[in-house]
Amino acid sequence: MYDYTIIGAGINGCFLAHELSKYDLDVLVLEKGPDVASGATMANSAIVHAGHDPKPGTLKAKLNVRGNELYPSICKEMDAAFKLTSAFVVATNEAELSVIHDLHRQSQTRNIPSEVLNRSQAMQLEPNLSDSIIAALDLPSTGIITPWEVAFNLMEEAILNDVKLNLNTKVLSVMARPRTCYIDAKCSDSKYAYEIITNKGNFIGSNVINAAGVYADEIYSMLNPSDKFTITGRKGEYFILDKLSEPIVNRVIYPIPSEKGKGVLVVPTIHGNTLLGPSSEFIDNKNGDFTDTETLEYVRSQVKKTVKNIPFNKVIKTFAGLRPTGPTGDFIIGESIDYPGFVNIAAIESPGLASAPATCEYVMDTIIEKQVILKKKKTYIKRAHLPILYKMADSEKQKLWKDNPSYGKIVCRCEHISEGEIIDSIRRPLGATTLDGVKKRVRPSMGRCQGSFCQPAIIEILAKELNLSVEEVKLYNEGSNVVIKGEFN
Ligand SMILES: Cc1cc2nc3c(=O)[nH]c(=O)nc-3n(C[C@H](O)[C@H](O)[C@H](O)COP(=O)(O)OP(=O)(O)OC[C@H]3O[C@@H](n4cnc5c(N)ncnc54)[C@H](O)[C@@H]3O)c2cc1C
Repeated sequence: MYDYTIIGAGINGCFLAHELSKYDLDVLVLEKGPDVASGATMANSAIVHAGHDPKPGTLKAKLNVRGNELYPSICKEMDAAFKLTSAFVVATNEAELSVIHDLHRQSQTRNIPSEVLNRSQAMQLEPNLSDSIIAALDLPSTGIITPWEVAFNLMEEAILNDVKLNLNTKVLSVMARPRTCYIDAKCSDSKYAYEIITNKGNFIGSNVINAAGVYADEIYSMLNPSDKFTITGRKGEYFILDKLSEPIVNRVIYPIPSEKGKGVLVVPTIHGNTLLGPSSEFIDNKNGDFTDTETLEYVRSQVKKTVKNIPFNKVIKTFAGLRPTGPTGDFIIGESIDYPGFVNIAAIESPGLASAPATCEYVMDTIIEKQVILKKKKTYIKRAHLPILYKMADSEKQKLWKDNPSYGKIVCRCEHISEGEIIDSIRRPLGATTLDGVKKRVRPSMGRCQGSFCQPAIIEILAKELNLSVEEVKLYNEGSNVVIKGEFN
């Protein structure tokens, strides 16, 4: 019996698990994927938006602005990268200029720093803006993160503080049971506890947090079919460009927002790559996170409208993510009226990432503090900061290499990742178990060659560390083994 069961270990499940781990509560996280951040948190633009464009009066507006305030200190605390890049919303004609002035006024009412720049002022800061740009709204509080890094670090610290994470565990059904059966649970006056049926056994949760991303509607309708909402996947496709000697843009470049969202963007990443995208298309298939030539061609045509000199010959990868789009245009966050103790954090499309710390704060303040009496744990364990070579000064590296030569053995030449860092990524509390897990934690295979040079070496390290044969090492999930017997060693 758990006090809180969280379904889904995306950015929202991770923030909640981390926050709840500070209290004297039994917390379980159920995640169907083989790792944390398997859904939208893995495939997005990674922008901590300023909060300039959500409609007034929405949770999106409120939580985005607050999330933007919270991120810098949270990232510092969690040893995750945060870069304040600023952003431009650019206008190409008079009608778009008037939208820029509206967004400027809206930003001012939200105390978001902003300024309208004319073409020459904007060009001084971003020389690759397209020739048709006539003005830009500057939003200096916009930042970028590596979303899965934040999620991993939060969940790792939660695990150190006794949160239980069950990966590869898919919730198949949720049923309300009379709560008298489970009187020892810490929960409110709810008459129910919740039985959660999964492919790996059944669990009882006194309170449940449904943070299942694009599947959150299906989870809730298992419990309460008469009060259901619908979530549709809205696909966004991207190109990733290799690191360039001169960045094409220094800040996020947005076109004018439309009904389809923030539009097709040009976004610098924390590690010096550039993202071009996303598209915006509703699709029927919630597993449909693949790219197609036609949509990528659309992305290419759109980014050229805002930025020129894009070196499309430097594309190293394409990818797609699904936004969990709800029926109202706003997030759906709240406790079920029919089933107290069951909380939905649903329809969390953009700016869901930027809002996540504030979403957690909001759920704690408005729901959880009313459900249980929160008592802080006596001891709380902080996550250890592991050596990350690219962040270290030369003198620190020299010392590290002397103490442990494996940090001097470079495995990934594109990203300069050492054997020591790869081993750490496997041995840490929320350790990698697959090639993708290593890649997400410490970046080997993220570079120009996309792993064609370093993958065999990483397979051998994973096999050795996890006591597996190389044939058993997986790329990501069940059945994604990379080495076929006899073709390795
Ligand atoms: C193309 C795109 C661009 C975006 N850009 C931005 C941006 O720049 N800035 C921004 O603020 N937001 C952005 N977003 C939105 C942001 O990515 C999401 O709002 C956020 O990641 C949602 O996090 P989540 O934890 O709610 O859901 P998810 O990250 O989707 O996590 C849900 C988890 O639940 C698990 N799950 C699902 N079903 C089950 C089940 N039955 N049993 C167990 N586990 C289950 C999934 O495997 C998944 O890991 C973008 C989204 C997309 C797709």
